[in-house]
Amino acid sequence: MFAVGHMAIAYLLGKGSSKALHTQINIPIILVLSILPDIDIVFDFLFGVNIHRGPTHSVVVAALVFIPFFIHYGKKAIPYFLALISHSVIGDFFIAGQLQLFWPLSRARFGLHELGSYYIDIFSPVNLALEVSLFIVATIVLYKSRDWKVFFKPKTTHLMLIIPITTVLLPSTIGYPFSESLLITAPVLAFAHLFYLVLFSIAVLKTFVFLYRKCFGHQNAEIPQSGFQPKTI
Ligand SMILES: [Zn+2]
Repeated sequence: MFAVGHMAIAYLLGKGSSKALHTQINIPIILVLSILPDIDIVFDFLFGVNIHRGPTHSVVVAALVFIPFFIHYGKKAIPYFLALISHSVIGDFFIAGQLQLFWPLSRARFGLHELGSYYIDIFSPVNLALEVSLFIVATIVLYKSRDWKVFFKPKTTHLMLIIPITTVLLPSTIGYPFSESLLITAPVLAFAHLFYLVLFSIAVLKTFVFLYRKCFGHQNAEIPQSGFQPKTI
């Protein structure tokens, strides 16, 4: 599945689970977690290995990583855990499969296809229609709930959005790891990627400006004089 589908599923799951659990969620972190397993694409690119859909897509690894968060945050961690594992057990499981879901306990690869059902390619019309539909539903919820406003307010955790921008959104829109740019092969999906690219870039830039002003903003401001202060009339 593409980043758009993963993020839409995780966002809707995060909204639903946080409502059921009566907890608050940080939406940018939910979205980052939803695509985090795909950072293995970067490893493949940088080191010439072939580990995509391997250990980073394992639910065992995800559960182990989340143990300290469950201990510290309790039920508040559940929407974030769901966002992370939704990538493998929902998105990639149904679309293209071949996941090492139980690594390191098993190196076997799993997916809907491996269980005997038909294979759905990431570029198949079924998946493209599914991802565009998920994008539309998620965008409507994002707008109606006013969650979109979060991206226009600076927050340090927004800097995590650099991960989806650089690892999945920008590369796949340009062409990596595919042979051609999504703008040519799947323009509607490319538009959805560009939507998130713009939204995330705004959040990151606003945070950078905020942090810059916080660190350097007072340098040119008047420094209060110590000692005698002339009286003003
Ligand atoms: Zn994946």
